[in-house]
Amino acid sequence: KKIIIAIDGYSSTGKSTIAKRLAKELGYIYVDTGAMYRAVTLYAMNNDLYTDDLDREGLIERLDDVKVRFVFNDTLGYGETYLNDVNVEEAIRSMDVSNRVSAVAAISEVRKKLVKEQRAMGQEKGIVMDGRDVGTVVFPDAELKLFMTASPEIRATRRYKELLNKGQEVTFEEVLKNVTDRDYIDSHRKDSPLVRAKDAIVLDNSDMGKNEQFERIYNHAMR
Ligand code: C5P
Repeated sequence: KKIIIAIDGYSSTGKSTIAKRLAKELGYIYVDTGAMYRAVTLYAMNNDLYTDDLDREGLIERLDDVKVRFVFNDTLGYGETYLNDVNVEEAIRSMDVSNRVSAVAAISEVRKKLVKEQRAMGQEKGIVMDGRDVGTVVFPDAELKLFMTASPEIRATRRYKELLNKGQEVTFEEVLKNVTDRDYIDSHRKDSPLVRAKDAIVLDNSDMGKNEQFERIYNHAMR
């Protein structure tokens, strides 16, 4: 029987790596909800709604113009993010977007729009969705919920290496600050703050390898 798997947790805990692998192994659809918030943020940046300060009202007014979708890429094995028909999969991972996304994600109207779209994607079961509020808000009835965490230093180190590999110019301090700032904003916003669902399985992967982590989760999914 196909189920819904919700993977939430702090920034850079490896949610998407695990989620993609799980989806591939189970033949499920993978949805990266963070990519959707990032795409809305990029839209704001591209339309002068977020240069230094975020123009909340301006963005809310134009939300109907923001169309985010995923287009499956056979080679990658998952959907790439498109913003109004432009592939933004790479652009949404920049530090400029990372430093702004949590402020955009705190806007209730933005959440309302994206949660609605995420629920629609879950109409068909057999989905792995990762984010911050999947097990609490998007799919409170998900059959399997995971909550991932690890120490900020370990998470920042992983993210730092990843960004360097992608050729982005960043410092470790900058990445660490981004990770902890986002966690703070995400955990303290009024609408759907980042909290662990009561029935989520907590996975602290500070000292856990990718394979061990995957085995554990896969076993839970097969129960
Ligand atoms: O998952 P990722 O780190 O790409 O998410 C980027 C940001 O999007 C998070 O820091 C958070 O502010 C926001 N987000 C959210 N709710 C989700 C997924 C992401 O608020 N379900």
